[in-house]
Amino acid sequence: MPECLFCKIISGDIPAKKAYDDDQILAFHDINPQAPVHILIIPKKHIPTVGNLEDPDYVVVGKMIKVAKTLAAENNITASGFRLVFNNNKDAGQVVFHLHLHLLGGRKFTWPPG
Ligand code: AMP
Ligand code: ZN
Repeated sequence: MPECLFCKIISGDIPAKKAYDDDQILAFHDINPQAPVHILIIPKKHIPTVGNLEDPDYVVVGKMIKVAKTLAAENNITASGFRLVFNNNKDAGQVVFHLHLHLLGGRKFTWPPG
């Protein structure tokens, strides 16, 4: 059984509220939402961080952004605004070392981020 939390969600060992699922990508609602819409979009391939991406992986990263666009539209946050975030390593506060794109929306965000 995989040790990675998000690999366990992919395998079904840990439940999640799914928002999108295909052969390469899974999206599910964050368990501790930081905004009215907070969805995590992950590749089914285990990749720890952006720093570990290799050339063939950029295809799936592009598809993750396409899924984010679709989910933003489905959640009616395209026009109001949304944020897409990859946290990478310690200074960014990454907790789960399986690449994930945060889709956040439904409220106003500040800049610079905390
Ligand atoms: P990060 O800080 O970018 O690594 O974010 C990890 C995110 O995963 C956090 O927003 C957590 O709330 C979220 N998370 C942790 N465990 C789960 C889970 N079992 N289901 C859904 N989201 C989770
Ligand atoms: Zn993983």
